[in-house]
Amino acid sequence: MRFASRMSKLPPIPTLAMNTKAAEMKAQGVDVISFAAGEPDFDTPEHIKEGAIQGLRDGATKYTAVRGIPALREAISDWAEEHKGLRYDPKTEVIVTVGGKQSVFNALHVLVEEGDEVVIPAPIWVAYEPVATLTGAKPVLVQTSEENGHKMTAEQLREVVSARTKIVVINSPCNPSGCVYSREELEAIAEVVLSTGAMVMSDEIYGKITYDGEEHVSMAGFSDEMKARTLVLDGFSKTYAMTGWRLGYTLARPEIIEAMDTLQGQSTSNATSFAQYGGVAALRGSHEFLDGWVAQYDARRKAIVEGLNSIEGLSVVNPKGAFYAFPRVSEIFGRQGPDGVLKNSMDVGLYLLEHAHCAGVPGAGFGNDNYVRFSYATSLENVKEGIERIRAAVGQLG
Ligand code: PMP
Ligand code: GLU
Repeated sequence: MRFASRMSKLPPIPTLAMNTKAAEMKAQGVDVISFAAGEPDFDTPEHIKEGAIQGLRDGATKYTAVRGIPALREAISDWAEEHKGLRYDPKTEVIVTVGGKQSVFNALHVLVEEGDEVVIPAPIWVAYEPVATLTGAKPVLVQTSEENGHKMTAEQLREVVSARTKIVVINSPCNPSGCVYSREELEAIAEVVLSTGAMVMSDEIYGKITYDGEEHVSMAGFSDEMKARTLVLDGFSKTYAMTGWRLGYTLARPEIIEAMDTLQGQSTSNATSFAQYGGVAALRGSHEFLDGWVAQYDARRKAIVEGLNSIEGLSVVNPKGAFYAFPRVSEIFGRQGPDGVLKNSMDVGLYLLEHAHCAGVPGAGFGNDNYVRFSYATSLENVKEGIERIRAAVGQLG
């Protein structure tokens, strides 16, 4: 069958592919520890489920406005003011999307096309580059360094921007490196952005998951000009453990929201009606549970970082946010496994899956083939057991 040529530009999403592979092995009775999906292992809090159930009971079974029910847009607007210090008009500057992923897809599709460039610091989450490519735009990957904590510097950005630069992507806290940009670093980046005509796509989905006193900062808060130039992307999946609900949103100036509304109206229409009521309950309800969750992630973070760094051939920069460890594995390239020499991050990922029964996601999809990503949104027990399995498997390499 001949598919449309655009499909040749789009690889399958490696995070979910690895997760599915691990689930299949588990179903066959293999005791796999999955560090694959970036998905909280906690259940959605009860009061949020109740919000959705109540919505259903009250008849929220119909289409809603494409951009979402007013109550959710108002809750998002209030939450952004309280938690990010940003004010957006719920009528014109907020759109609810089917997961944060649809915000990425729609934002890029309404803003860029052939001839445009999208600057993407790497390593970074797996969707921006393929979706930018799908629009016809050119992704410009900026390789960050471990020395700079996997963060793009303003200098690096200055070297790649031009009149063609339409969007600069910032994801802080970052998936997969866990880096968190400081206010000063973002201010320097904002200065470069303002010297061009570019916009910033600021993916803040891990904004509530930070450690060691680090705080997430939004570039949209720097000035009216930066606010006008920034799209803030956020969602419910990570903060409230609502990955399956498919609920996210974008905050931006009215004409951008209007364009995203038009595109969404021709594709998914609205996010699921009763899920939106759960979203209202999440934002308006108590956030007390979150401190406990972050404390648990933090304990796992410490265990996985210490464990990975204690394995010869692996080393990891301490993540300051999100729930991923992104160790460098390139030192074990060239070593011999039972299925051949390990040559790249995919070989290492498959070796660890087959021989340590631990699933991670190869770094190639994140824009750097020297790494493998492990999500520590799993129990401390799994983290400890997984480390010992990985240690044993790496030790067996020839
Ligand atoms: N942004 C980042 C950085 C992510 O890691 C993810 C992964 N879930 C998303 C956006 C999208 O999440 P969702 O579609 O579940 O809201
Ligand atoms: N974002 C998560 C991850 O990186 C979930 C899977 C996906 O949407 O890519 O694993």
